[in-house]
Amino acid sequence: MPIIPILMYHNIDNPPQGAKLRGLYVRTGAFARQMFLLRLLGYQGLSMSAAMPYLRGEKQGRVAVITFDDGYVDTLENALPVLQKNGFSATCYFISQRSGLYNDWDAAALNVRKPLMNDEQVRTWHTAGMEVGAHSRTHPRLSNCNDAELQNEIAGSKADLEALTESAVTQFCYPYGDLDERVSNAVQQAGFDAATTTRRGRVRVGDNPLLFRRILVSGSTFPHLFLLKLLTGYEDKRG
Ligand SMILES: [Zn+2]
Repeated sequence: MPIIPILMYHNIDNPPQGAKLRGLYVRTGAFARQMFLLRLLGYQGLSMSAAMPYLRGEKQGRVAVITFDDGYVDTLENALPVLQKNGFSATCYFISQRSGLYNDWDAAALNVRKPLMNDEQVRTWHTAGMEVGAHSRTHPRLSNCNDAELQNEIAGSKADLEALTESAVTQFCYPYGDLDERVSNAVQQAGFDAATTTRRGRVRVGDNPLLFRRILVSGSTFPHLFLLKLLTGYEDKRG
């Protein structure tokens, strides 16, 4: 069975002083080296929707999926130029009712306010050929939502982002990686093609597209570890 890595990033920037979970920050230089390594190894870096034919087993090729959670301004400012330089596409998952605001769901815990892209910046990301995916309306724990809230967060974020980009939004990412069967059913019913989790591992063709696992890339993912995560079962054992 072909194996496809889906890389998970949060911030591409220098970690701010005093921030907790500084590992969520990958420095721009490190990100550039990782994208260079991908290309050197013969991988095409793709967005989720561009990779779907490969994930479904309809197409064969050496592809790696590149994803960013939350839609931080640094994804646009620091990651986009690197992606473009390498001829890669990527998916960024946005919280549709936090446009232009900050990470209010975990700013206190992380001790850092991280600016999120505003509507114009989301459109800039999209018109640059990158994918806009949905990450709910307000970043709740979806398994705690009642049915009406679930519908609002999942189908609502799809509608918001489709209106903003005037394009179909087909990819979802569970906030906090929190989900249960009711949540994944709601994602499917809303019309998404696939959804990514925070469960670690590489995707095997034939895996459930509503439960795609990802490879965590953090600030301490040095080149040798990046290669292990990409090319071996290192992450699969940590799922
Ligand atoms: Zn998130």
